This record gives sequence, structure tokens and C-alpha cells, in this order.
Amino acid sequence: MVQADVMHSTHKPDRLRELGILSLNGMFDEQDSLSVIRQAFEISPKDMAVVSSFGADSAVLLHMLGQVAPDAPVLFLETGKHFPETLEYVETLKTRFGLTNVRAITPDSADLARFDPTGQLWETDPDSCCHIRKTEPLNVVLEGYGGWITGRKRFQTSDRGVLPHFELTSDDRIKVNPLAYWTNDDIEVYKKAHNLPEHPLYNAGYKSIGCAPCTSVVAEGEDPRSGRWRGLNKTECGIHFDFNGKIAKPMVETQLTLFKDGKFIADPWRAWAEDDQPANVRYTHVPLPVFLENRQAFLANPHPLGLLINPGDKVEDVAEDVARFASIAVAFPAFTDGRGYSSARLLVERFGFKGELRAVGDVLHDQIPHMWRCGFTALVVSHAATRKALEENRIAAVTLFMQPVGASVEVPAGTRPFLRRPVPEPA
Ligand code: SF4
Repeated sequence: MVQADVMHSTHKPDRLRELGILSLNGMFDEQDSLSVIRQAFEISPKDMAVVSSFGADSAVLLHMLGQVAPDAPVLFLETGKHFPETLEYVETLKTRFGLTNVRAITPDSADLARFDPTGQLWETDPDSCCHIRKTEPLNVVLEGYGGWITGRKRFQTSDRGVLPHFELTSDDRIKVNPLAYWTNDDIEVYKKAHNLPEHPLYNAGYKSIGCAPCTSVVAEGEDPRSGRWRGLNKTECGIHFDFNGKIAKPMVETQLTLFKDGKFIADPWRAWAEDDQPANVRYTHVPLPVFLENRQAFLANPHPLGLLINPGDKVEDVAEDVARFASIAVAFPAFTDGRGYSSARLLVERFGFKGELRAVGDVLHDQIPHMWRCGFTALVVSHAATRKALEENRIAAVTLFMQPVGASVEVPAGTRPFLRRPVPEPA
């Protein structure tokens, strides 16, 4: 197999998105799976990848792909933990269906050395193991695609029970699930009808097959996926989670609450919850006191992490750690409380924070120009009129101010810079 080239395209399937996910689902609700795959490639021929585990059911989707687009990229997450039989099966299906572009996606070696040096992370923290062996490597490669096709089905888990044919996920990608409505019986019938090769372990009782350490034999009558992460409260590896740790759902406009880079987008971050674990929480704004109490665990956490600063929190306490955060949220609980501006300036000007700096809480129209000046790069806006003003680009820049900030070169009103003289050196 060929190691995947990491592409850095920002191209997205605009035509597909323009048609609207809802109308696509309406058009293709009654269509068969082959038509769904055809449609995805027809609309976005160079922008679609297929992600396959080469597990027990994978032959069905890949057989269809062989008929529609055998040269399409097929991404196989080569975690380093697969059964040897799965690696054989990759070769079998490639040859049988004429798939010419199967790519093995491997984990980052630095991540493995740092977070899983003994290769036993699956025993102690399977979520993190899946994250560094599957989710992160896939996310990097998906940067090059606007959409991906999966083999997920509604019957597999309760979370997947509402799966549509087409989803728009919060990272602005289209996910296509041609087999969403299939049942287990449909799969068996299709495999027999087309004489598809079985995974070598299927007849030994492995009905759903992932990495070897996390897959076990399923007894007669048991749910096929019960052999995955048996005994653990885990049903998904994480590649189908949205940024916020939930299964991706079709996005609707009202969920686009984060204003960033001139437009409203879906917010990948969420608030800290009481039962969150410092060691494996991700895309979460952790309140500053909670971070300080569990600092070592948060610093060892391999996932993207955020920080929440409330009025009264001492930003100086995290001065050494600001580079650890991908996003820092500064709360403005009331229009009259301006402490958030000072926190922002300290973070940017004194501590050199370069990540996303967002204002949350009572973010109103009049505050926004001052927020931009203090270094904020994103806003969470719930106030309807403010939201409308941002959408219509009606937020005026500040032209008169009495106190300069260091985030940009500013001269306060009333001063006459042309009269300034350098301060003479003491004699
Ligand atoms: S399935 Fe198991 S071994 Fe594979 S990445 Fe996840 S935790 Fe690790």
C-alpha cells in the first residue's frame, strides 16, 4: 500500500453544498446506494474520498465503489494494531474490485512516541489511543478533501439511528452514508448475491472488526458491534465524532454561533462539564481554576484544549501555559464589566498568546470594535441585533480613542505625533 500524501487543499464541494443538504437528502432518500455514490462523485469528482476499515461489512461499499469510481481515494486507517488478516483482506479487496488508489493512513510517529511509547495505550485510555491512531491522522488527510464517504448504517448503534444519506459536519465537510438505511440482512443478501469475499475472521465469529486488541468474538444472537471495546463504555472510535465530541449531525444555520474571519460558522468548542476528565477532554474551554487544579493532567492530555477566563481570574497564573491552548474564551457576563479587555490585552501583548481569542457572554454591537482592538479574533454572539449587524457588516471601526493598545499601532486622540521628540538620554 502507498502511504498517503497529505494534501493541503481548501477546495470544498461548493456545488454539493449549494444544492443544500436537506434537498439532497430529499432527492436521494428513496434512491439506492449506488445512486447515492454516483451522485456524490458526479457533483464533486475530485473532492471525495472513501474511508474504509476493511472490516466485516466493508466489501459491500467497496464493491459498489469499484463499479462507480475504482480510482477514487480509499483511506484505510493503518493504526498499527490491525489483525494480520485485515491487512491481507485489504490486498484481496483491492485486487478483486480493481481499486487503484487505496492509501494507508498511519499515525504521527512523534505522537506515538510521546503518548503511546509502549503501544499499550489502548488498555488504559482507548479514547486517546483512537485519537492519535485514527482521528488525528484522518483529520490531517481530510484537509485535502471536501467530503468523504463512509459505510455507516443506522442499525449499528443508537447514535447512528438517525443517519441521513448526506451530512454537513461542523468542519464544513460533506459526509455521505450510502448504506445508512441498510439492515444486517441486506448486507448478507448483497454479499451472497455478488459472491463477495468475506473477511478471513468473519466465519470465526468476528462480526465487526477493528483493531485486534479491541475486537472480540461475538456470540450467536449478540449485537455484531458488541465485540468492539467489549466491557467499555465506548461504541465509536471517534472519527465520526464532531469536534464537540458528539456524533456529527446535519448542521442547520441556527447552530452557526461563532463569528470568525468575517462569517458565522459552527462552533467546534464546548463548555467544561462536571464529569469531564482532564486527561482526555477535547475541544473544551476549561475554567482557569479547574485547569490550575489539574494542571499536570491537562498538560499531558493529547487533544486540543481551550481555557475559559472569567472576571476575577488571574491571567498571570497561566502565563507559562498559554501556548498549550488552541482557544481562549474570555467571558463578558455583563455589558458594564470591562475586565475582559484587560485579560485579553495581557494574553496577547504580555504573554504572546497566538491562538484563537474569543469573547463570550454579553457580546453586544458597541463592544465589538474595542474587542477587535484588544486582540480578540472570534466572538460567540447570541444577541439577535448584534448578530444581524455582523452579518450585514455594519460594525464600525473605532476612530476615536483615548488609550492606545499594543495589539496595533495606535495614537490616542488629542496627541500630536509630529511634535513628539525622542526623550533625551540622561547626561
Ligand atoms: S481501536 Fe483500540 S487499538 Fe485501535 S486505535 Fe482504538 S483503542 Fe487503539
